[in-house]
Amino acid sequence: MSISKRAGRPRARWLVLLLAALLLVSCGGGDEYAADYDQPAADQQSLDQQSVDDESDWYYAETPEDCFEGEEFDPVDELCYLVVECDESGDCGDESPGFVQEFFGLLDEVAWGVSGGGFEDAGELQENTIVTYRVDGNQIVDPELAEVSDDLLDFQDDTETQQALWTYFSQLIPPDQRTFLTQYVVFTDGPDETLAFVTADTEDPTKWILAVDIADGGDIQDLTFTLVHEFAHLLTLNSQQVPADYELAADPENEDLFYEAAAACPTYFPGEGCSEPNSYINAFFERFWADIDAEWQEVDQLQYEDQDEYTAALDQFYANHQDEFVSDYAATNPGEDIAESFATFVLKPAPSGDTIADEKVAFFYDYPELVKLRAEISGRLVSRLRRN
Ligand SMILES: [Zn+2]
Repeated sequence: MSISKRAGRPRARWLVLLLAALLLVSCGGGDEYAADYDQPAADQQSLDQQSVDDESDWYYAETPEDCFEGEEFDPVDELCYLVVECDESGDCGDESPGFVQEFFGLLDEVAWGVSGGGFEDAGELQENTIVTYRVDGNQIVDPELAEVSDDLLDFQDDTETQQALWTYFSQLIPPDQRTFLTQYVVFTDGPDETLAFVTADTEDPTKWILAVDIADGGDIQDLTFTLVHEFAHLLTLNSQQVPADYELAADPENEDLFYEAAAACPTYFPGEGCSEPNSYINAFFERFWADIDAEWQEVDQLQYEDQDEYTAALDQFYANHQDEFVSDYAATNPGEDIAESFATFVLKPAPSGDTIADEKVAFFYDYPELVKLRAEISGRLVSRLRRN
């Protein structure tokens, strides 16, 4: 088994253009992370004064009078959200006129395909940290400025965009679904490349960090898909699903430790720990990856040997199993596969085909709590998009 990592979903773009530029991976979550954003208090102060104390710059609130028909006012968020009713079979009216039509119409332009091999090391991306916030419910507080080169100072000053990206995420994902998200990092690797990623906190791997590229937030459809994809990692890898391996989290570059933990795990081992037998990711792996895992392992191993070979082999792996994946990026590994499939589940109508890719999307309909969550995210999304 190879070392797995948790890194970003790249912005959607065409395969051929991508392959050249991508960094490959060692392993998610670097030790050096904490050192990246240690900054003198004086720096933090100026940011505090600019933005966080002045909520009017970015904080958007509604009143019950602002709600449209079918929406309910959430007094905690101070926002209106569309209420979506689903029946017991998980039918939320996907085929009927109404919100879903509107919703999928709005999102129709999302480019689904992204590059195989578009996988950057979370540790490398963290070196491009611009500012780190602590997450406090719906709010982000205590910004810590990273030391950045002069060309990134504009991004560092742009607290409005930093806040807007977080606010959009917090409006899409219900608060009770992201209690383990404790930090929000703004980073950049330049335009395109990785739009966002999540990684467990190395000091306490039950806590998670969401990072968003401030240079890539301009395309609402890419942003929406990617944020739901990143949330899918939180949903499938949080410590209730995959009990955190503290030893491994504290020493993520230690391959011996990794192989030892992987070998001792009777269920799917995504890298963060040994998945619970009834976890989403273990069920997904057992159902969809048992037949292709050996072939994929050989491909995945190449990334530690030769980047070009790895990329070519991953493309070939995807080509061999194209009707099994909702996007080429999904073929990267089981963790990316479940994240891409979940985002498709949330953002697209229920599948009508009978490919394995369709089955992967339909997989989530077997979980009533996920059908409910899908409806909730959909309603929140429609209410936000309506107002943009
Ligand atoms: Zn991902």
